[in-house]
Amino acid sequence: MSKVVIITGASRGIGREIAKKLAIKGYKVVANYNKSENEINNLKKELNEQGIDIECIQGDVSKREDTKKIINFTLSKFNKIDILINNAGIYQFKEFTQISDNDWDYMINTNLNSVFYMTQEACKDMIKNKNGCIINMSSIWGLVGSSCEVHYSVSKAGIDAMTKALAKELGPSNIRVNSIAPGIIDTDMNKELNSEDLKNIKEEIPLDRIGKVEDIEKCVEWLIEDKYTTGQIISINGGWVI
Ligand code: NAP
Repeated sequence: MSKVVIITGASRGIGREIAKKLAIKGYKVVANYNKSENEINNLKKELNEQGIDIECIQGDVSKREDTKKIINFTLSKFNKIDILINNAGIYQFKEFTQISDNDWDYMINTNLNSVFYMTQEACKDMIKNKNGCIINMSSIWGLVGSSCEVHYSVSKAGIDAMTKALAKELGPSNIRVNSIAPGIIDTDMNKELNSEDLKNIKEEIPLDRIGKVEDIEKCVEWLIEDKYTTGQIISINGGWVI
């Protein structure tokens, strides 16, 4: 049977591209979304027109109960989980002194606790099967920190620490755990940047362009197929952070 993959935050941006390409490659895709129902329906329709199907499931991954729902849905459909891609995430630009307790909790719950919940729920099945691949979407800001993005940077650094620790714990169960740490990728997450901002950022990037969702998706495909990489933070950033 084809490999079963769950992708969180698959309605838009990087997650959408991953879901689309893996479905086209023949994986059984469970695409999670939270608010963007129209977008996920459009993705399903686009794939259906090519004779390909995906399963879509609503769930707020910052909530333990919703992550259980996503895992149970997947097991009821396919009876196993081979790959988990913890991609869902939010971003906020705010001076440190202006970050409220609510801002902090919302960020940590959505970006970091979600990875704890989803991974803990999914890895029970992976441990039983002695097989699994977990890919966490981190960020360069988890590696080097970003001004006015302290809570975002902390959430991503937490993901990277979880990746390394879990790789050690789950390696003997034949489960690989890695992070991808993108630089700047052209998605809705950066829609507030104007052309001047983008020009300035581009000037700092040795490969002289903003990243595309395909740049990240290719790394995901490689990490799924590879057999000997675990506990790594792979940064795809055009040379912005070296
Ligand atoms: P995006 O275009 O803003 O899409 C975010 C996705 O996450 C959407 O599908 C959204 O679903 C989902 N999501 C948000 N909160 C959720 C929740 N509570 N439960 C379930 N799904 C939720 O963002 P993106 O650029 O593709 O980013 C994807 C990942 O890459 C994020 O983790 C981000 O931090 C990371 N990243 C992005 C960049 C970049 O420059 N774009 C750089 C570094 C790292 P709904 O719309 O359905 O709510």
